Amino acid sequence: MFIGHFAVGFGIKRAAPEVSLGTAIVAACFLDRVWPLLVAADVETAKIDPGNMVLSPLDFVSYPYSHSLLITLVWAGLFAGVYRWRGGSARAALWLGLAVASHWSLDLVVHRADFALAPGLDMRAGLGLWNSVAGTLAAEGSLFPAGLWLYLSTTRARDRIGRWGLWGLVALLLTSYVAALFGPPRPNVDAIVIADILATALAAVWAYWVDRHRDVIPSYPASSPVSGEARLP
Ligand SMILES: [Zn+2]
Repeated sequence: MFIGHFAVGFGIKRAAPEVSLGTAIVAACFLDRVWPLLVAADVETAKIDPGNMVLSPLDFVSYPYSHSLLITLVWAGLFAGVYRWRGGSARAALWLGLAVASHWSLDLVVHRADFALAPGLDMRAGLGLWNSVAGTLAAEGSLFPAGLWLYLSTTRARDRIGRWGLWGLVALLLTSYVAALFGPPRPNVDAIVIADILATALAAVWAYWVDRHRDVIPSYPASSPVSGEARLP
């Protein structure tokens, strides 16, 4: 999945307003940040295979350490644990752990049956939505506005950066999405990995920047877990 993961990042702000949008996006996209590093290190394997899926030319030959169910739960626990260890609230840490884990379930919907449940286990899962352009656009086209709405209804711009910087980030994500789906195919896996690392690093830094220029609307105060919990979606 592409912008569906960013939708989760935006939506986390409603559940845990104290969490920066940048951290929430890093959590929701965490498995895809681990994947290119492991591919670059030859721990995981992918190859270009035009027609592999209608909307993805990549054959994910092996990626059990970034995307298997078991290891996803480990990554989620580690992410939440580090956030908590660095002074974050238990509640926010829990939501960030869920954001990391959400990645697996969203990818499960779009990938073909190449998802291992655990390293070394030859049971594969995947529902293959990437073989349907209309289905993919309907799923991600529903998720992204919903996540963005949650963020917009939880924060308000403090200044121009908070207002226009947010829409610039949205434009960046949508442009990247359209380019990934319908743009010219990239020549090799290295090009995909490098573009992936750079684009998501830019999006995360941009999100941290924008979020510092937006305030949580008082009805969702970061310091009032009781009030926040009462409004959980
Ligand atoms: Zn992924």
